Amino acid sequence: FRKIPLNPNTKDELTAMASTFNRMMDRIEDSFIRQKQFVSDASHELKTPLTIIEGYSSMLSRWGWKDQSIGLEAVDAIYTEAVHMKRITQQLLELASIENEQEPAKERIELVAFSEGCVALLRKLYKRNIDVQSVSNELYLRADPLKLKQLLLILLDNALKYSQTDIRLTLSEHPQQRGVEIRVIDKGIGIPKDDLDRVFERFYRVDSARNRKSGGSGLGLSIARNIIRLHQGTIEIVSDEHIGTEVIVFIPYE
Ligand code: ADP
Repeated sequence: FRKIPLNPNTKDELTAMASTFNRMMDRIEDSFIRQKQFVSDASHELKTPLTIIEGYSSMLSRWGWKDQSIGLEAVDAIYTEAVHMKRITQQLLELASIENEQEPAKERIELVAFSEGCVALLRKLYKRNIDVQSVSNELYLRADPLKLKQLLLILLDNALKYSQTDIRLTLSEHPQQRGVEIRVIDKGIGIPKDDLDRVFERFYRVDSARNRKSGGSGLGLSIARNIIRLHQGTIEIVSDEHIGTEVIVFIPYE
C-alpha cells in the first residue's frame, strides 16, 4: 500500500487531501490484513479435520474391507470430522454475514416466553435441567428474533458443554441502565484468567484438544459478540477455573 508523503510545513488543500487519502488507505490496509487473517485461520481450522479424513479414508481402503473393526473405526472418525467441518463452515458463513451487517431487523419481543422456547430446545437435546429465573413474568425489548435466539443458544450451549450440573438463566431489568440483563450461569470447568480476554477471538479455544471432543469450533462467542454489537449492548464473562462461569449480557431498550 503506497501512501502520499506529507509535508508538515505546508497546510494547504493538497496536504489535507493527502492525509484523507492516507487515512482511507490505512482503513483499506487494515481490512485487507483482517481478511487475509480470516482466510488463513479458516484454512487452518479446516485442514485438521481434512487431514484426519484423508488418513482414515486411506486406512479404510487398505484394511477396512478385511478387518471390520478397522472399517467401523474409520467410518466413525470420518463421519465425526465431516460433522465438525460442516459446523465450522456454517458458523463461518454466519460470522461473515453478521460482521458485515449494520442494521438488525428488530421486533418487539417478550423475553421470558422467548427464552423458555430456546431453553426447551436444549433441554430436549441435552436431557439436562436449565433453570430459568425472571424478576417479572414479562420483559419486553426490541431485538432481531433470529439473532437473539442464536445468542441464547450459543451461551446456553457453552454452559451445558463445559459443565455437568444444572445451569441457570436469569432475566431481569438492568438495575441502573434502561435495558435488560441476561445472565447464563454454570458451575463447570471455568475459564483460566489468562484466557478470559481471548475467548471472544475467532477460533480461540481454551484447550483445543479438550474442546475437539465436545465439538467446539471456537466461533460461538465471536458470533455472540457481533450480535451484541448489532444491538448496541455489552457482553462480559466472569469465570473461575474449576468453579464456574457467568456470562452477563446487557441489551438496551433502544
Ligand atoms: P466453542 O464452539 O469452542 O465453544 P466459543 O467461541 O463459544 O467456542 O468459546 C470459546 C472458548 O471459550 C471455548 O472453546 C471454551 O474453551 C471457552 N468457554 C466458553 N464458554 C465457556 C463456559 N461456559 N465454561 C468454560 N469454558 C467456556
